Amino acid sequence: TKTSRLDKILANSGFGTRKEIKKLCKQELVRVNGQTTKDPSTHVNPYQDEIFVGNERVFYSEWVYLLMNKPAGVISATEDHQHETVIDLIDEKYRRFDPFPVGRLDKDTEGFLLLTNDGKLAHHLLSPKKHVAKTYYAEIDGVVTEEDIEAFSKGVTLEDGYQTLPGKLVILTSGMLSEIELTITEGKFHQVKRMFEAVGKKVTYLKRISMGPLELDPSLDLGEYRELTQEEVTLLQ
Ligand code: URA
Repeated sequence: TKTSRLDKILANSGFGTRKEIKKLCKQELVRVNGQTTKDPSTHVNPYQDEIFVGNERVFYSEWVYLLMNKPAGVISATEDHQHETVIDLIDEKYRRFDPFPVGRLDKDTEGFLLLTNDGKLAHHLLSPKKHVAKTYYAEIDGVVTEEDIEAFSKGVTLEDGYQTLPGKLVILTSGMLSEIELTITEGKFHQVKRMFEAVGKKVTYLKRISMGPLELDPSLDLGEYRELTQEEVTLLQ
């Protein structure tokens, strides 16, 4: 198993900067396996060695899992030359773990976005073979009908000839402006917008409200995020 410098582990666990941690070590506040450790460069195994800062046991994890309510106007990528990205919205405390968004939402799409540095989990959620369900709330310019429900339940043909898998369409309100929920199990580029184009309608507002077993947390305002609980991470795996 891998060892890392004590000061790096403590910095990543939120105990301050390397300089501050050096001080804590000097003040004899840091113990590894019961032994006061004054040298911050000591190599330790954060999963096997018992690390204490004062009375506080250090539980280390190199994994970060965040649920964000993505606002419109930001790009769901780690870097962009022109626009703000979802990573720019995240505190340095998490950013140093190099999280990335699990899949893409369009710049103008809001809602449920996971960010993690767990490539295995991301792959599991994004793999086309896994058919992870994603539910969107959308506002549609025009009247959404029973025929649209029927068409989506069979799968529709997009403008490039791609035949989508079945999607479950629920009409919330129907009128000049309709409100719907659509659940799909794949994630083609602009898929929801293009499915509605396939039935001659335009999406004017789009928000993802769930992914797999997890729903968007209603306590999160646009641009806010929180860590997933251990239970939520387990549900996703
Ligand atoms: N479908 C879209 O059209 N856009 C998104 O951002 C997500 C799904």
